[in-house]
Amino acid sequence: MSRSRQLSTSALVGWTLLSISVCPTAATSQPERRTTTASSFLKKPAKQVFGAIAAPISMQARAIGTYARGCLVGAQALPVDGATGQVMRTSRNRNWAHPAMISLIEKLADDAKKYDGWNGLLIGDIAQPRGGPMRDGHASHQLGLDADIWLTPMPDYTLSTDEREKMVPREMVKDRHTLDRSAWTDAQARLIKRAASYSQVARIFVNPPIKQELCKWATGDRSWLAKVRPWYGHTFHFHVRIVCPKNSPGCKNQSPAEPKDGTGCGQELAYWMGPKPWYWMEHPANQNSHPPAQPSLASLPAECRQIAIAP
Ligand SMILES: [Zn+2]
Repeated sequence: MSRSRQLSTSALVGWTLLSISVCPTAATSQPERRTTTASSFLKKPAKQVFGAIAAPISMQARAIGTYARGCLVGAQALPVDGATGQVMRTSRNRNWAHPAMISLIEKLADDAKKYDGWNGLLIGDIAQPRGGPMRDGHASHQLGLDADIWLTPMPDYTLSTDEREKMVPREMVKDRHTLDRSAWTDAQARLIKRAASYSQVARIFVNPPIKQELCKWATGDRSWLAKVRPWYGHTFHFHVRIVCPKNSPGCKNQSPAEPKDGTGCGQELAYWMGPKPWYWMEHPANQNSHPPAQPSLASLPAECRQIAIAP
């Protein structure tokens, strides 16, 4: 992908990521979709339709489409109080995932406790009950195969519902180029390395100074760093993406596109530590694609439209 293409794509997605991030209202009301005509329904912003769906479709789990344009059936809810993890911002109703993702999060939380000095993990947004675009906060997370995991350690007690809504996560960076060393420890590095070491994990997204720190920190086999990619946001959580699971023929993996140097610690990191990725934010008037148009329901895979309508 050329630099200019990379920038424009980044700009589109970055807008969505950065125009967030707290969603105080979760979508639990009944969708109004059944009262509209078919054509007007298809023109509706997909995020409004999927954001209003309260329950999954019970059937064999399948992810359909792409990470940023798709949906999910057979989702399971990650337990709000797991043995080694707690779900945050429960009012958002975004703790739904493909069962493969549920297993991966639970394994990561268990391993982090056993080996990496974590008491447990705080889990942010995963996906909506039927996946699909969200009303706010994310360009991806549509297949139940993306999860945000906080870099703040889990307290040693069960958080109240109110605490889950209001607890402020610890930021790990001071600015675009500087890690906050009063917040960051080796435990965060170990956790991200652990996640990257799983074969099912396709990508991990972190803010650029975090990637820079991991590049300095890693010794021995550094190949896991190729999966850890700089991106906008992700200053207090990291984003784990897994590959399309078996039995999801309509799920499309993203291109493998590994960094040329095998770690992304060279040219790619230098790009993200430079001014170019941030230009569009500093000059919004020059960006005619910003903010991006809201994808309509018609722009999703046909099967996702049926999933949106299904009772
Ligand atoms: Zn995310």
